[in-house]
Amino acid sequence: MGEPFISVKNLSYAYEEDDGRKIQVLKNLSIDIMRGDFLAVLGHNGSGKSTLARILNMILFADSGKVVIDGKEIIPNEISDDEIIELRKKIGMVFQNPDNQLVATIVEDDVAFGPENLGIPSGEIRERVDNALAELGMSEYAKHEPHRLSGGQKQRVAIAGILAMLPECIIFDESTAMLDPKGRQEVLSAIEKINREKGITVIMITHYMDEAARADRVVVLDDGDLIFDGKPEEVFSHEKELISMGLDVPQCTSLIYKLREAGFKLEGRCLSAKECAELLFGELKNN
Ligand code: ADP
Repeated sequence: MGEPFISVKNLSYAYEEDDGRKIQVLKNLSIDIMRGDFLAVLGHNGSGKSTLARILNMILFADSGKVVIDGKEIIPNEISDDEIIELRKKIGMVFQNPDNQLVATIVEDDVAFGPENLGIPSGEIRERVDNALAELGMSEYAKHEPHRLSGGQKQRVAIAGILAMLPECIIFDESTAMLDPKGRQEVLSAIEKINREKGITVIMITHYMDEAARADRVVVLDDGDLIFDGKPEEVFSHEKELISMGLDVPQCTSLIYKLREAGFKLEGRCLSAKECAELLFGELKNN
């Protein structure tokens, strides 16, 4: 398996209020993330998901515990700015609001902005921009104005801008939360493609159960504690606990659980509408 790309051990973090009061947000959190993982981080509002993302992007530093990224331990006050810059090249961040991430008036200039800041030669920038737009299915919009695009398209331009910096890992912090259902699907498919075809490690923070179900691994945070860490089918088998944390399971999964409780023998995984249909048709054929 090799070394984890990101290793977090016993991480704690508290925000300090103006009056000196501490708000403990992460408590003794441990998690290893391997290269190529597609990890979803689930948790209700305020559970500490964004704080974890900020720590992994070195915007914040742990109060205690150990954070190692690509073999380098992040020790506050010891790590140099140059080392932080080098590590940040490896981990891109995509945020919630696409409008806050777009800086240029033409799509291709926007995608070029990141690599330009990295000092990449212009010929190579052209190639990276073209490739990134093609990966995101946005080539035909290269000369368009970003503000005229749909939410899903804008977010795909923002992702292309990150991809053009050739990161090893991308953290998506609720990147579909402001989109309509079509936009959400476009962005989710893009995230899956980036992981499956390019092998980029994906950390996807979300509060949508159906999105988390598409990851290979789901971790659940509740008030800064890591409650579950496993394959989606394992994590979503804890329906009652998830509901008590203000979360849920995907609708199709919940339906199958109810039918099982009612005595139907529906064996197999159910995390998507397709798997749900297969189980139900299978049951009908057997009867
Ligand atoms: P999530 O992403 O799961 O919604 P956050 O990591 O954003 O959770 O926040 C966790 C907790 O930390 C919340 O209670 C929130 O109010 C608090 N918090 C977040 N940012 C700050 C900040 N800059 N100063 C003080 N408290 C904060």
